[in-house]
Amino acid sequence: MKTKKALRDLTAEKFGRLTVLYRAETRGKNVDYVCECECGEFPTVRGQSLVNGDTRSCGCLSKELTSVRALRHGCAAHGERKASPEYAAWLRARTRHEGVNADFPTWYQQVGPKPIGQNALQRKVDGSFAWI
Ligand SMILES: [Zn+2]
Repeated sequence: MKTKKALRDLTAEKFGRLTVLYRAETRGKNVDYVCECECGEFPTVRGQSLVNGDTRSCGCLSKELTSVRALRHGCAAHGERKASPEYAAWLRARTRHEGVNADFPTWYQQVGPKPIGQNALQRKVDGSFAWI
């Protein structure tokens, strides 16, 4: 008899425009996933929202929909689009450091999820990055 509902690992599953890449940093009870959207964004989405069907894109889908419809709630659309801290760090690394040519999924596999309390990236002598 099943007593506990096991959390389904959503890696590599597709939800609308989103393909789940990795499980992101876990905050509390929520499981977030770094996804790749068909438009090229890499949003972090709550696993529950994917399963429920609440989130089907990085926000570009609702942006397209709201272009024909009046925007109901600006905050919701904005929140959905929020980039993951890892993605933001990757963008910063690309602007600040030369030689960061890896695309985000490759880079993310090297650097890993951002540990809680560590917000900066340090470039090591060998050119790789580490959270500090
Ligand atoms: Zn998108």
